[in-house]
Amino acid sequence: MSLPRLVVATHNRAKGQELVELLAPLGLDVRTLADFPAALKVEETGETFAANAALKACQQARHLREWVLADDSGLEVDALGGRPGVHSAHYAAPQASDQQNNQRLLEELAGVPLARRTARYVCHITLADPLGTIRAEAEASCRGRITEQPRGTNGFGYDPLFEIVEYHRTFGELPPAVKACLSHRARAMQMIAPAIERLLRAGEWLAVKPPSAETRAV
Ligand code: IMP
Repeated sequence: MSLPRLVVATHNRAKGQELVELLAPLGLDVRTLADFPAALKVEETGETFAANAALKACQQARHLREWVLADDSGLEVDALGGRPGVHSAHYAAPQASDQQNNQRLLEELAGVPLARRTARYVCHITLADPLGTIRAEAEASCRGRITEQPRGTNGFGYDPLFEIVEYHRTFGELPPAVKACLSHRARAMQMIAPAIERLLRAGEWLAVKPPSAETRAV
């Protein structure tokens, strides 16, 4: 019998890979948008992580007629009043690279002492069914500190600058297995996993049928 299918809705390959690995214990057939050339590029117009995760999960689910899980995440730096927040991916420029975003962060924090460089990563995960209805969601965070130099090459985004104080290491330096236990994404996934398991046990994955192409409203 084929496994119930779940599509992870992100165009960020590194983030997608983390989500696929975190979902592995649930026994689903986990796909990424790489398997769906017709996937939407959803505009992230929300002002909160929750609003953007909902946009990505619901629009993509309706479009693909699949169960879809979306993550919206970012970095909130205390000394910057919570910026870059929901704008983390495009902090330095609309198409900024991770390196450009990290450079801008270091520039904005120039002269700020270590003790005041506290920050947190936030992750909101939303699960939508093929009708585009939200069926579960969770939000979690992970606290750390922004270093004065990038350290390490693991992870993605701001990871070379994000130090887990207790470990004296950035996520760029820590092994991926450690990030998979401690991160905002790992914690949000731990919170949403029981709800996904309940939906699976209740047979919801097979019960929700998207409208066929002929009957679907345009
Ligand atoms: P999103 O794809 O709109 O949710 O943007 C997420 C952005 O937040 C990424 O492009 C990174 O800049 C940042 N971010 C989120 N999670 C992480 C992480 O685990 N490590 C490093 N950067 C992250």
